[in-house]
Amino acid sequence: MGYPTVRMRRMRVSEKLRLMLRETRLSASDFVMPLFVSEKVSERRPIGSMPGCFQIPVSAVAEDAKKVAQAGVPAVLFFGIPERKDEKGSEAYNRDGVVQRAVREVKESGLELVVITDVCLCEYMSHGHCGVLRGERKAATVDNDASLELLARTAVSHAAAGADIVAPSAMMDGAVAAIRRALDGEDFVMTAIMSYSAKYASCFYGPFREAAESPPAFGDRRSYQMDTPNWREAMREIELDIDEGADIVMVKPALAYLDVICRAKAKFDSPMAAYNVSGEYGMVKAAAQRGWLDEKLAVLEILTSIKRAGADLIISYWAAEVASYLGEA
Ligand SMILES: [Zn+2]
Repeated sequence: MGYPTVRMRRMRVSEKLRLMLRETRLSASDFVMPLFVSEKVSERRPIGSMPGCFQIPVSAVAEDAKKVAQAGVPAVLFFGIPERKDEKGSEAYNRDGVVQRAVREVKESGLELVVITDVCLCEYMSHGHCGVLRGERKAATVDNDASLELLARTAVSHAAAGADIVAPSAMMDGAVAAIRRALDGEDFVMTAIMSYSAKYASCFYGPFREAAESPPAFGDRRSYQMDTPNWREAMREIELDIDEGADIVMVKPALAYLDVICRAKAKFDSPMAAYNVSGEYGMVKAAAQRGWLDEKLAVLEILTSIKRAGADLIISYWAAEVASYLGEA
C-alpha cells in the first residue's frame, strides 16, 4: 500500500499540539512603541493616514507612556515635531527641545520604561533633509561630515535628558562612531546606540511623513538612504555600525525586507531590531476598514513573520495593542 509513513498532519490535529510545537512566539517584551511628540498641538491630534496614532503634546507624554507600560511593552521611541525649524536643525539639540522634554517627563514620572530617542535632523530642518545642506537648492547635497557634529550634539542632549538608548536614523556615514565618541566624551558611557543601519529609501514611509511633518521640501533621500534592491550593501552597513559601536542594529522597513533581516541574523550576533513602518501599518488598516482583512489576525501574522525572520525587537505602531492581545491569550 502506498500510505505515507510520515504524516505531518499528526502534529497539527489540535490547537494544544499546535501551540506546543509553535516555533515562533511573540511576547510583549519584543516590542517598542513609537510616539510622536509635538510642540504644535495642545491636545492629542489624530494622524489621518495612521488611524489610531496621534501627535501628542509634551503634557500628555507621561500618560501615554504609562498606557504603553501597562500594556506590557518595555520601551518607547520618541520622534519630535518642533515649533520652529531652521537651516541648522537647532531644535534637535536644544536642551529644552520637544524630545528632551518628553524624555524628562517619562523619567520624572517614575515609569520603568526604556526610553529610546530618534536622532535625526529632518524634523528640525526647514528643508526637511536629514543633514546639513551644502550648495544651492537644485544642486544641493547633504554634507555628511558637517551633519555628524549636529547628530552627535543631538544624541548627547537626549542622553543628558535621560534617554537610555539613542537611535541615529539619518544614514550618514560614520554617525555611530561620532555619536559614541561624543557620548563617551560627556561621560554617557552607558547610553546605548540602536542604529538604523540598513534604512532603505522606501515608499512605505509615506504616512510617517504626515505624522512627523518631515517630508523634504525638494529632492528625495536616495543619496543617503539605501537603494531598495540591495542586500549585500545592507550587510556592509550593518557590519560598519557594529564596528563603530552600535549596540543594536536595525533593518527598516521590515515587511518588504524580511530577507535582509534573515541574512543579517545569520551573519551577525548583535541584537537586531526591525521597524514595522507606517506604510505597513496603513495598508492593513485600510484593508481592515473595508472588511478585506481581519486586522488582528493580519497583524499577528505579519509581526510573527518579522520575528521569525530574525528580529529580536520590533518597533511597531501596534505594539501596545498587540501586547494587550498577547496578555489575554
Ligand atoms: Zn531623517
